[in-house]
Amino acid sequence: MAKPRTDSPTFIRPAIRAMDGYTPGEQPQAGGFIKLNTNENPYPPSPRVREAIERCATDDVRLYPDPLANALRDAAAARYDLTREHILAGNGSDDLLAIVLRACVDPGDRVAYPVPTYTLYDTLVGIAGALAVRVPFPTDFGLPPQLAAAQARVTFVCNPNAPSGTFIAVDDLAALSERVAGLLVVDEAYVDFATDSALRLVRQRPNVVVLRSLSKSFSLAGMRVGLAFGPPPVIAELCKVKDSYNLSRVSIAAGAAALADYDNMRAHVRRVASTRGRLSDRLRGLGYEVPPSQANFVLARRPGRDQRAIYEALKERRILVRYFATPDLYDALRITVGTDDEVDALLAAMRAIASTAPPP
Ligand SMILES: *Cc1c(COP(=O)(O)O)cnc(C)c1O
Repeated sequence: MAKPRTDSPTFIRPAIRAMDGYTPGEQPQAGGFIKLNTNENPYPPSPRVREAIERCATDDVRLYPDPLANALRDAAAARYDLTREHILAGNGSDDLLAIVLRACVDPGDRVAYPVPTYTLYDTLVGIAGALAVRVPFPTDFGLPPQLAAAQARVTFVCNPNAPSGTFIAVDDLAALSERVAGLLVVDEAYVDFATDSALRLVRQRPNVVVLRSLSKSFSLAGMRVGLAFGPPPVIAELCKVKDSYNLSRVSIAAGAAALADYDNMRAHVRRVASTRGRLSDRLRGLGYEVPPSQANFVLARRPGRDQRAIYEALKERRILVRYFATPDLYDALRITVGTDDEVDALLAAMRAIASTAPPP
C-alpha cells in the first residue's frame, strides 16, 4: 500500500487513495533497444492480420463495432471446439480480469492467489476494495495447499505463472476447483508456450474460467485482444459488466484473423521454445538458478544477490529486462525469450558485465 499523497483529493475513494497504481514494464518510445522486458513475441503476427487490419480502413469506422465481437468469438469457438456462449472477448485479458472482479467481488470480499505472480491482481483487488489473500508459493512453485482454505470469492492462478514461468498440472487445478469457495480463474496468458492447458475444465466444472491473451503467442500485444472461456451461465453474467464496446472493429478483425492462422502461431512458439532452452542453460552456466519455464520468458535468480546493478548495466547497453524491486524478487531478473540473435547479445552483455564487476 502506498502512503496517500497529501494532495490527493478527498472525493477520491479511500481505497484508491490508499493504493499504488499498476506499473507496467517500460515501453521506450525511442528505438534501438533489445526489448526483453514485457514478454512480447519477437516474431511478427500472421500476414493475414495485416490484411484484416487494412480491410478495416474504411469509413465504416464511423459505426460502432459489434458489442459482442461475435466474429472473434466464432473464430475462437471454432478453434477451441466450444460455442460462442462459452466465450467473452476482452480488450486484452487485463480487461477480462477487471470484468471478473467487477462481476464477482463486493468491497471486503476475499480474492486469493499464490505469490509472486502477476502484480496487476493486487491493483485490481485494490480498485475493487476487496481483500487480497496472498499465499506464498512453495520453493518449487507448486500449488500452495493453503490456497483453497482462503475461502475466496475469486481465486486466481496464473499458469504458466509469471514471473516464474513454471507450470502447475491441470489435474491439480481441477482438484483446486472442487475445493475453492467461489470462482477459479486460470490466467493462461502464456499457455501456448506450455504443454497442456486447463481449457477442458470449462466444460467439466461450473466454477472455472480460463483467460487467454493474443498478446504473447499470437504477437498482438499492440492490438489488445483477450478471450475468457467459461460455462455459459458464468459468461452471461460477465457480459453484463463489460464496457459496451470493449473491442474496436480493428481488434475484432485482427484477433479473428490471428486465430484463423494457428499454424503461424505454432511455428513461432516452437522457435521461442527452442531459444528458451538454450537461454536457460546458458544462464545456469553463468551461475543463475532458472526454474523450468513453460512460458516465453525465464526467471534468472541468484539467491540473496540484488540484481539491480545488472539490470542497470544491461539498460546502459540498451538491453531491457525486467527487475522487480520487491523483497521476494530483488535477486532475480525476468528475461523475455527474444530471437536467437537478441538472446546472444544479452548473454554476451551479461558475460561482459560479470567480468568488469564481479558480483559480491
Ligand atoms: C500479459 C499478461 C496478461 C495481459 O495480457 P493482455 O491480453 O495484453 O491484456 C494477463 N495476465 C498475465 C499473467 C500476463 O502476463
